[in-house]
Parts: sequence; structure tokens; C-alpha cells
Amino acid sequence: RIREEETIRRRLHNTIQELKGNIRVFCRVRPVSSSESASKAETTTALIKYPGQEGREIEFSNSTESARGSQIEKVYPFTFDKVFQPSSKQEDVFEEISQLVQSALDGYNVCIFAYGQTGSGKTHTMEGPLNASRESMGMIPRSVLQIYETAKALESKGWSYTMEGQYVEIYNESINDLLGSDGLDTTRKHEIRHGPNGKTTITDITTVVLTSPEKVAALLKKAAHNRSVGSTQMNERSSRSHCVFTLRLAGKNSITDESSEGVLNLIDLAGSERLSQSGATGDRLRETQAINKSLSCLGDVIYAIANKDPHVPYRNSKLTYLLQNSLGGNSKTLMFVNISPLMSNFNETLCSLRFATKVNSCTIGTATKRAVARSFTEKITNTANSYIGGAKQT
Ligand code: ADP
Ligand code: MG
Repeated sequence: RIREEETIRRRLHNTIQELKGNIRVFCRVRPVSSSESASKAETTTALIKYPGQEGREIEFSNSTESARGSQIEKVYPFTFDKVFQPSSKQEDVFEEISQLVQSALDGYNVCIFAYGQTGSGKTHTMEGPLNASRESMGMIPRSVLQIYETAKALESKGWSYTMEGQYVEIYNESINDLLGSDGLDTTRKHEIRHGPNGKTTITDITTVVLTSPEKVAALLKKAAHNRSVGSTQMNERSSRSHCVFTLRLAGKNSITDESSEGVLNLIDLAGSERLSQSGATGDRLRETQAINKSLSCLGDVIYAIANKDPHVPYRNSKLTYLLQNSLGGNSKTLMFVNISPLMSNFNETLCSLRFATKVNSCTIGTATKRAVARSFTEKITNTANSYIGGAKQT
């Protein structure tokens, strides 16, 4: 009976996930901070509207002076799989991803990205503030907690899981171990290896066997510490590097004899702001080029996957090469596009929304759902029309 129950549970879960699509994009607008609202210059916020009943639409607009001096309002509408308004709580956001997180326990590979300019709320979304209260915890600690809980509940169905965690930084197209015992050692070289079994490993990297949620909290703290030690200006550095947290889940069922291997990757991307290349030289120039290249490459990879292109350019950046086995195929991808409500960030926000739209508009899930809805409406209309037409003739 447990075998049957397991099959049904998995099938139901997978059907729901498939309906939602393998690539999803969520937009999250951060609130104005108290220090921003204290300083007048910064408080000017862009006009943002959230039309539609389903919480999927956002309208972004600015008011510009035309040559004649009259006010013209330009409205930029976007639709995503979900839009989170500034008032959304971490809990609300997690609720929308918790099923996806669980699918790693069923053997899926999952990637959750946070994309956006520096200061738009990526780290807040993924990790939450340092020493966060339960309420303000971000997606990484919430995901881990939920995985523990679910794994525990599945014990009664014969499942036992081992969980391993890694945390790396990709900076200037090279990988650094954020869990190294001697701090951040950037002289150490780490190579990416893809095994024949679809398993990705990084050479010489710290892997922590996670036996309790407390171990995960300690791991996150250590990563944050190593990051800050590696640089005098932590924010400077973290905005120029991608941070990839990887959780490997290997399950075995003693009753049904099944086994599963899933991977959950949570990625806090480098800031997407277009740093001016003109003035930059040396290290800064290299950094800028590396970020631009890897972010556009990530967009290209997701685009190629969603379009079912035969060639997916995974090898064009370290980030996509590392995540190759967790992007495409059966894998599930979710991208948060984090945006700032401030008028001073308007242009960058528009760029982020456009990047996300490129990734989103081609996603099979959403596109198919829309196409199905459209053809259904057409069918009804045609049927109705022919009926009316037919009725008229008689
Ligand atoms: P990023 O990682 O994209 O550079 P942060 O996550 O560090 O941006 O966010 C910038 C600031 O805004 C931080 O002080 C953070 O605590 C705050 N912040 C971001 N998003 C939210 C949110 N949803 N609710 C409350 N504060 C937020
Ligand atoms: Mg950050």
C-alpha cells in the first residue's frame, strides 16, 4: 500500500509542478527603506501599479517632460508568473516556492536564482538579514527547514535521506570555496567536473554533511564570515560575485527499494547594473566583463532551454557550466527578478524587467498555458459564431 501511496503522491506533485512549467519568473518589489524615506531626495518612487486579479501583472511608469513641457506618462506593463508587492512577507514568497523546493526530495534538480541590481533585495530574498528572526529568514534557511521536515515525514513511508551542502562563490570566472576552514583562499584552484551519471562535482571543495538545521545555520554564518574576510568591503565584493548554495539530497526507500538523487541550487547573482566600461581599467574592467558575460550567458541558456534549441551554450560561462545538470532536461528553474521602487533606479529596473521578460515570455509553461487558453477561447467563439451564423441562415 505504501508503494501505491508513494506513486500517487509523486504523480500528483509532479502533475502540479508540470502545469506550472519548468521555468518560472517571479518579480519582487522591495519596500522603501526607513533611511531612504528619511532622506528626501531618495524617496521619489516610480509609479507602480498592480493590475489584474491574479497577482501576475505589474505596470511600471515614469512621468517625463516632453519638449513642449507637458507631462507624458510612459507606462511599461509586464506579466510574470507572480508579482510580489513591497508588502509581501518572506513567508508569502516561500509559500510560492515550497512545492518546487520539495521536488528536490523527489529526485529533481532545481535552480532558484535572484537577479537584479545591487540593493534590489536579492540577498534579503535568498538569505534574509544576518541573524534573522524566524519571520525574516530568507529562502535558503526556509528551504532547508522544510526539506528537513518533509524528509522526517517521509520516514514513515520508508525514506531516509542524506544531505550534503556546498557553498561557492564565482568571482571573475573562477570558483572560491566559501566553506574553507582557513577562510577564503582565492589562490586555490577548483575545477568543475561532470560525471557520466549526471553528477557535478567541484574539485577540492568543502562538503558538509547536514545532519540538523542548526548545522545549516552554522554553514551560512561561516560563508558570510568568509566572504567578509575575503574583502574589506563585503558589499562591494558580494555585488560582483555569484554565490551558489547547493544542497544534494540522496534518498533511499527501505520498503519500496526506490532511490532518488536531487539537487537544490539557490543562487544569489552578481548585481546586474551596467557598470560603465569606459572608465574601468584593470581588475574593475575584468570584473565588469565577467559579470556582463555570465549574466547574459545565463539569459541565453534559459532562453535556449525554453525554446528547446538543440544547442544550449552552457560552456560560455562558469556559472552555467557549473549548473549544467540543473538547468534544462527535467530540471526546474525559478528566477526572482528583484527590483527597487526608487525613481533613481528606474533605468536599471526597466533593464531587469526586460531581461526577466526575455526569460519569461519564452517559457514553455506560461506560453503553453496562454496558447491553450487562447485556442480554447477561439474555439468557443468559433462555435458560437457558427451557431449564430447558422441560426441566421435558417
Ligand atoms: P542586494 O542583495 O540585491 O544587493 P539586499 O538584499 O542587500 O540587496 O537589499 C538592500 C537593502 O534593502 C537591505 O538593507 C535589505 O535588508 C533591504 N531589503 C531588501 N528587500 C527587502 C524586503 N523585501 N523587505 C525589507 N527590507 C528589504
Ligand atoms: Mg546582495
